[in-house]
Amino acid sequence: MEELIKELAFYKKREQELSLRVEELTDFIENASLPIHWVDAQGTIIWANQAELDLLGYTKEEYIGKPISDFHDDQSVLEDILNRLTSDEILDSYPAKLKCKDGSIKHVLINSNVYRKDGKFIHTRCFTKDITSLVREERVKTDLLTELEQSESRLRMAMDSTKLGTWDYDPVNGDLLWSDECKKIYGLAPKETVEFSSFAEHIHPDDREFVEKEIQKSMDPVDGGTYEISYRILRFKTLEVRWIQSYGKVYFDHEGRAIRFLGTVLDITDVKQASEQIRKNEKLFKTIALNIPKTLILIIDKDHRFVTVEGDIMDRLGYDSTVQYEGKHPADVLPPGRYEVAKPLFERVLAGEKFSVETKSFEERDFIVHLVPLRNDDDEVYGALVMSMDIHEIKQAEENMAKLAAIVQSSDDAIISKTVDGIITSWNSSARRMFGYTADEIIGKSILTLVPDDRKKEESLINERLNKGERIEQFETKRITKDNKIIDLSLTISPVKDSRGNIIGISKIARDITSKKQEEVRKNDFIAIVSHELKTPLTSIKSYIQVLLAKARKEGGDFTINALSRAEVQTNKMTYMINDFLSLARLEEGKIYLNKEPFELHPLMEDLANDAQFLASGHTIKLRDCEHIIVNADKDKISQIMINLLSNAIKYSHKGSTITMGCEKHGSAVKIFVADEGVGIHDADKMRLFERFYRVENEQMKTVSGFGIGLYLVAEILKFHDSKIEVESEVGKGSTFWFELQSEE
Ligand code: ADP
Repeated sequence: MEELIKELAFYKKREQELSLRVEELTDFIENASLPIHWVDAQGTIIWANQAELDLLGYTKEEYIGKPISDFHDDQSVLEDILNRLTSDEILDSYPAKLKCKDGSIKHVLINSNVYRKDGKFIHTRCFTKDITSLVREERVKTDLLTELEQSESRLRMAMDSTKLGTWDYDPVNGDLLWSDECKKIYGLAPKETVEFSSFAEHIHPDDREFVEKEIQKSMDPVDGGTYEISYRILRFKTLEVRWIQSYGKVYFDHEGRAIRFLGTVLDITDVKQASEQIRKNEKLFKTIALNIPKTLILIIDKDHRFVTVEGDIMDRLGYDSTVQYEGKHPADVLPPGRYEVAKPLFERVLAGEKFSVETKSFEERDFIVHLVPLRNDDDEVYGALVMSMDIHEIKQAEENMAKLAAIVQSSDDAIISKTVDGIITSWNSSARRMFGYTADEIIGKSILTLVPDDRKKEESLINERLNKGERIEQFETKRITKDNKIIDLSLTISPVKDSRGNIIGISKIARDITSKKQEEVRKNDFIAIVSHELKTPLTSIKSYIQVLLAKARKEGGDFTINALSRAEVQTNKMTYMINDFLSLARLEEGKIYLNKEPFELHPLMEDLANDAQFLASGHTIKLRDCEHIIVNADKDKISQIMINLLSNAIKYSHKGSTITMGCEKHGSAVKIFVADEGVGIHDADKMRLFERFYRVENEQMKTVSGFGIGLYLVAEILKFHDSKIEVESEVGKGSTFWFELQSEE
């Protein structure tokens, strides 16, 4: 019994101990820091400890009793887990993703097995290990690694593309490592190795001392540490000279000893040669820039850096003449935005393209920019010449030219230009219409193509006047068309002069006056017919008057004599007038003919003086010194000239004044003159008196009748006698008209 009691007590104690253990265990599991949950055969969560709930953020009610699938992010993973467990697999650190209440995902590792009783699936026991932060770290690490890899490969690419070699020197044991590119620069194959001593040997002898000094300097822990020099090397084997640029960095230990020397090396032979070339040409370009007005010359190197900026229009193009541009990059020294505009042009020219662009400055002036690649002896582009020229005036002139050209083309007159040698250089559309030739047909041909044979000598007369710089206005002439038609033209011909006044061409404006001419012919014909028809009755009137006058004189009767004398004067005047009209009409038609014969001057002059005196009884007419002179001329025409001069002298002088007509012998020439004491002639009018229909117009002359053809006829008739009319006159004092004839001895 005692045994039993003992045993009982023992069991009781065991039971107590056991229940204590269960309690402890339960508490332990409930409060364990390791999250745990149980899932039954149906996949429902039947229990979870606090750590599990804390991990995912749910309350007991929200979690326990719910299907586990609600909490798995990846259903296929869950399926796999359940499959494995059902087939009695033990899961060890199986990765899964669980959904938290706040929507975030936890990365976990699951350790799990199945609790079976009597072979029956009771539930799973899952231990969840949160590895979210681990996963995150891992991810960051991989990201970092990929980035590192990428940047490394970028660096490698950059180095490859720049042909940058790298080197690594250990000053302690003297090891020298060169990258393949570095070896290539030195003319070595990738497999070949190199020693520091042979590196030193391959520095160009002239640069060796300097390089060694620089290396020493950079190894000095106080001032050194970096190294940046360019110098010449001699390539291995070939000993070819190359220029290199080397950058380096020295690493020191805590005692200030150089333990590593790392750096890069770049072959800059081409750049060096280019800048050498540029330096050589710089002076030349500067001289050009300074001597071409309105120009800005830029020389840029391959990196777009300014080598030269020179010219007299820097300011106009936004460059500051006080700034030192040479050696600077345009991005650093030009106003914002300027380089961006120039950059694509610089790139084009440095790619070898030669081109020009027209642009406007900020002041709206026109510029042309010529971009020319500069090449070395190997035909490689080492820089560019950028020449900006102010073409504002040229542009304006071009615009004006275009306007003028438009006017010329649309003009109704034919406008032709020719060289001083008479070669046609331009031809407008009216010229084509007038002459029938197209511009293509006629440009380059002689102007004589248009001149009829009988007028060819006219050209040389015209040229003579043009060469004196004179302009010929409204010169009426005839020209011949492509289909051999003669047309009447009025030409205005001017010399074309350059800025220094040299005659560089001739311009001709031709107006077709054929129809006007035809009109004139008709008018002349009319005048000729009318004059002729008037002459006959007038002659008979005159003879009747003379008969009556003779009769009256015989029979006496002062009134009749007086009246008939006046009638005779008037018929005489009319006869002169009609004669003038007839002469004019004939002259214009070119139908005037001279009937030259030797005759004595005096009798004619005497008759003329008497007739004039008869016409103008209020004036005194004097005749001087014409005796014994014989001239060879058309007597009637000379008398017509004298009648005109005398009647003008009478018309334009006061009653009571004297008119002197006379002759002066000068060798074989006889000067015949008519002088009056009349109103005189202004200088401005003197030049034009001999033009057809020209009359001086002022108050004084208003009452004097006339047609303005007398002096024109005088001048024209004298031309046929190879002579010309001259005048000397003083206003208010009188005028003398004179001409010369050849005397016959
Ligand atoms: P008209 O006498 O019919 O007008 P002319 O051709 O004979 O025409 O003369 C032209 C012009 O010259 C005249 O209108 C006149 O003004 C001027 N003139 C001509 N002769 C003289 C003169 N002796 N004195 C002053 N003026 C003259």
